[in-house]
Amino acid sequence: MNREKAKLMQIDVCSTAQSMYHSGLVAGTWGNISARIDEDYMVITPSGMNYDSLCPEDMVVVDLNTLEYEGNLKPSIEAIVHSAIYKDRPEVNGIMHTHSTYALTVAAARKTIPPICDDQVQILGGEVRLAAYTMPGTKEMADEVVKALKERAGALIANHGAITVGRTLAEAYTGSQVLEKTAMVYINCQSIGGGVEISQEDIKFFHDFFMNKYGQR
Ligand SMILES: [Zn+2]
Repeated sequence: MNREKAKLMQIDVCSTAQSMYHSGLVAGTWGNISARIDEDYMVITPSGMNYDSLCPEDMVVVDLNTLEYEGNLKPSIEAIVHSAIYKDRPEVNGIMHTHSTYALTVAAARKTIPPICDDQVQILGGEVRLAAYTMPGTKEMADEVVKALKERAGALIANHGAITVGRTLAEAYTGSQVLEKTAMVYINCQSIGGGVEISQEDIKFFHDFFMNKYGQR
């Protein structure tokens, strides 16, 4: 493992965890985020710690294959879900999991979010699927989440919350904000007859644009 890269990822995960905390996407110690170091290791937030008091060294280095970890702090119990995603999706380098209010509202109703917003389909890749209800921190949850995320950058987890992925942790963070807003729009649309779906052709165009042409690249 490249120790320099591991240190940089610890700094990135710690500062992103603090911004996430102050953004209101999580409450208390709920939610967790991670960044990939390489094909065998990730850095993830520790279990049950206050985000406000975290420092970069508290971010836990975890082996993606064995889930063994370095240091005295235990990793988030959802490390198994994060590692399963990194193993399934080589292009993913950052993951954010929240229990944000609107996403959890839709997840608690066990509904999916149809493709109704431009930024949703652009960044998340289309309809937001729902991972089936499972116990947190289990292989079953990992399997269900990986399945719901296929060809997507975001999914809901039944009665639990939301998860987003990105080529960088910053991209996963943007995904979480877009997913939370999309869930709110979806709920609001129910009171005026429901949202109108964007066509598959347009979804493909928008998502391809975001993945390949958007920004300063
Ligand atoms: Zn959770």
